[in-house]
Amino acid sequence: MRSKLVAGNWKMHGSLSSNLALLQAVRDGAKGAAGVAVCVPYPYLAQARSVLDGSTVAWGAQDVSEHDQGAFTGEVSGAMLVDFGCRYVLAGHSERRSFYGDTDAVVAAKFAAALKAGLVPVLCVGESLAEREAGITGEVVTRQIDAVLSLSGVAAFSRAVVAYEPVWAIGTGRTASPAQAQEVHALIRQRFARDSAEVASRLQILYGGSVKPGNAKELFGQPDIDGGLIGGASLVAGDFLAICAAA
Ligand code: PEP
Repeated sequence: MRSKLVAGNWKMHGSLSSNLALLQAVRDGAKGAAGVAVCVPYPYLAQARSVLDGSTVAWGAQDVSEHDQGAFTGEVSGAMLVDFGCRYVLAGHSERRSFYGDTDAVVAAKFAAALKAGLVPVLCVGESLAEREAGITGEVVTRQIDAVLSLSGVAAFSRAVVAYEPVWAIGTGRTASPAQAQEVHALIRQRFARDSAEVASRLQILYGGSVKPGNAKELFGQPDIDGGLIGGASLVAGDFLAICAAA
């Protein structure tokens, strides 16, 4: 039996003053609930640690460098994230893939760097609307996963999480139906099962894309959906906590 995980992705939102109330509300409201995390912008990691340390809510970042250290201006290493108590880091969010040139190879390298640093990478995969309409969702998601598998191997996924996020559902208010999401989640699990039935059966596969309090329960009730990666709704404490409760 896999446990559920609900991770918030704040994207580039927040301020020291607005974060404080949100972090405190999530910390207090999630009491006792296992598997809740927030991925905050880098400058707010120290604040997340100071509010969440000792609570059941974990924190993480939204990206990581593929390099350990050195002349890489603007980059942040996995070891630096560990220094700030991060447990999770996103790898290959669609916004990184489409706006910042994170190719499959770069995402695979970032995933490997995160693991090496002791973080739990959350590998984000998903197809664009054009790709779904062309009937190549499975191909796209498999290609994104295979790039990581060929660099890190299937055993790496015993310490990682996968998030299926159809690009057309992120921030659009258009959610994949529970059946559409389940179909892709099952396909993802089957892909891992080809390499290791054990890893596949334990792997947490999150759904992301316009999850709201009103649709979370049905999505999370699907057999291969093990929780969610939540963007917009993670910025509203009541909504995020309702989604956590649905998990
Ligand atoms: C995301 O940012 O990963 C995401 C799923 O966003 P939203 O929930 O706003 O669609």
